[in-house]
Amino acid sequence: MADAAAEYGVKVMCRFRPLNESEITRGDKYIPKFKEDDTVIITGKPYVFDRVLPPNTAQEQVYDACAKQIVKDVLGGYNGTIFAYGQTSSGKTHTMEGKLHDPQLMGIIPRISHDIFDHIYSMDENLEFHIKVSYFEIYLDKIRDLLDGKKNSCDVILSQGCTERFVSSPEEVMDVIDEGKANRHVAVTNMNEHSSRSHSIFLINIKQENVETEKKLSGKLYLVDLAGSEKVSKTGAEGAVLDEAKNINKSLSALGNVISALAEGTKTHVPYRDSKMTRILQDSLGGNCRTTIIICASPSIYNECETKSTLMFGQRWV
Ligand code: ADP
Ligand code: MG
Repeated sequence: MADAAAEYGVKVMCRFRPLNESEITRGDKYIPKFKEDDTVIITGKPYVFDRVLPPNTAQEQVYDACAKQIVKDVLGGYNGTIFAYGQTSSGKTHTMEGKLHDPQLMGIIPRISHDIFDHIYSMDENLEFHIKVSYFEIYLDKIRDLLDGKKNSCDVILSQGCTERFVSSPEEVMDVIDEGKANRHVAVTNMNEHSSRSHSIFLINIKQENVETEKKLSGKLYLVDLAGSEKVSKTGAEGAVLDEAKNINKSLSALGNVISALAEGTKTHVPYRDSKMTRILQDSLGGNCRTTIIICASPSIYNECETKSTLMFGQRWV
């Protein structure tokens, strides 16, 4: 039983990005110390995860550690979710998407797409696959369908109403992502600010049928690039900005509470209904589902406070 729990439980990974140019120019101190493959030490305090990925970890290694097994499981009929959590500019989008068309720098979503179609091409001809994807964001607890250029409004109650696209190659998946990103750009004035305040969710739905035996399998995988986890100073923010910040805090802590309840395993009540996001993800979180959180962090002393609170968020479940 213990083994099963460990296998199905929530996995928490932690990835540090390298110092960026402005941090180097400023002469920021590099603060993490890495120990074995599961511990990072910040100013003397150790934080332990299922796996810690230091700044020199290549995108392919991140994929192998964080996503490869989940993709196998989803192809085997399970549901799963992979989250990237961290402050703005900590590497969430680099981890989830990366450079979509660059074999070295592509992130988890393009690698998953390649893996899924490699798997399909390798299977025998009796198996028929139907792969559908959706792409939407949650902003102030409202869903915006990123594949509906015209509507692009927030009138979908749960994600069931979002556009679904059939895809038959990795290239088609990348086209859908490019299309969604373009729509997202059109709808907002400052993309960087906007992406740090909304959760973006890419959903891959896999249905397969053996045409001889009529045996069916289906699995879905949510890939979630969360809103920036940084605290907005209570004195500096007001009006709309403060409302946004409160909403993000609320949805991230609702997510934390759901995952804590699932990770404990003993709780009968899992508070899925406390936020739009956890309601949408309900059938892909907990139970037999595969859940991985990638905690993303900066190595600069300048971000020490945020980094510590980011690491604490993931610590609860290890
Ligand atoms: P976030 O989505 O968390 O706001 P980004 O993924 O956009 O952060 O990363 C911020 C910047 O740092 C981007 O220019 C990105 O390419 C770069 N970056 C992030 N992680 C890494 C990494 N592991 N290696 C190299 N560059 C990275
Ligand atoms: Mg981002």
